[in-house]
Amino acid sequence: MIIVLKPDLAADAPELARLLDLARSFPGISTEVHRIEGATRALTEVYLLGPTHAVPTRPFEESDAVEKVVRITQKYRFIGRHDPGLDAVGFEYRGVRLSQETFTMFPGLCAVDTPAHVDETFAALGRLGVRTTRAGAYKPRTSPYDFQGLGKACLPWLFESAGKHGVRIVTMEVTHESQIDEIRRALADSGDATGVMLQIGTRNAQNFELLRAVGAQTEHPVLYKRGMGITLEESLNACEYIASGGNRKIIFGLRGVKSILGEPHRNFVDFAHVSVVKRLTRLPVCVDPSHSVGRRGAGPEGLLDIFHVAAQGVISGANMVLVDCHPRPEVALCDGPQALRLEELPHLVDDMAICRRAYEERVARAKRP
Ligand code: PEP
Ligand code: MN
Repeated sequence: MIIVLKPDLAADAPELARLLDLARSFPGISTEVHRIEGATRALTEVYLLGPTHAVPTRPFEESDAVEKVVRITQKYRFIGRHDPGLDAVGFEYRGVRLSQETFTMFPGLCAVDTPAHVDETFAALGRLGVRTTRAGAYKPRTSPYDFQGLGKACLPWLFESAGKHGVRIVTMEVTHESQIDEIRRALADSGDATGVMLQIGTRNAQNFELLRAVGAQTEHPVLYKRGMGITLEESLNACEYIASGGNRKIIFGLRGVKSILGEPHRNFVDFAHVSVVKRLTRLPVCVDPSHSVGRRGAGPEGLLDIFHVAAQGVISGANMVLVDCHPRPEVALCDGPQALRLEELPHLVDDMAICRRAYEERVARAKRP
């Protein structure tokens, strides 16, 4: 059961304390307060956990502080849509708002290799006004003989370079819980030069211990990449694991699913699920055209397939695009064949802006009679 409080109720309001006491007076019920700082207002929800079927809604509804009480019957208790006022609010991290209504590009390196390449990439992003990126330090690779990423050794110069170029968020995959601490320590040593969004890769989509670990901390948002060989429902349940640990700053990433039917692309592009995830959950949705397509094929008009599939996601309302680029893709140590050149980024940014405008026009048209 969720009690949605009136907007702008102070976190220390006595009405809130009274509601919590009332909730906890029912047998087996515990409470959790979730506060969402929106762009214009603050919203608070109280979650009642335990055998809530025996808890009446009336005593809560009678409180002046309560907007409404929602009985959750659906399975996505934390990530599901329950309240139109709150569903699109999303979250803010490092001054960047990410929600089902915003649009943000995250171009960057699949894998960090040299300080010079990192610096060149971040400088190119800075020139474009892009403040959000990706950079892999811990790489889960199919073969143990492939480059495994530089790990914690690269974090000091990676974060320093991010700070120098005004990068606010670096999205970085973690494959083990201990890496969260390594990242936290390196960020602190860098004087918090930037922020880090923790990425759960498709290969760890059901690594429940790792999901619990990123869910147990609330500092870093999480980009969850859908499992490449499991159902959408199973992937959404994995996000529910993260959220039920306390961290609600989650983005759902579509990155294609494994099927020979996707050939000649690396994966079968699944961006038709953008609107489905937005309908079923409150999570902002990311598309990753690089890991979906996996190569540099182009249509007869000359536009890369990577551009085309990113366009498909964005024109249907994707909130984030995660895309690989590299100053010299031919020497990249991971996923070079799918990396855009830095010179291609201005075109990509313009192309995505066209698609975003088209999406907004489509929504405006749909709202007219
Ligand atoms: C990545 O983003 O570098 C990556 C490995 O992605 P995925 O888990 O989607 O394959
Ligand atoms: Mn990659």
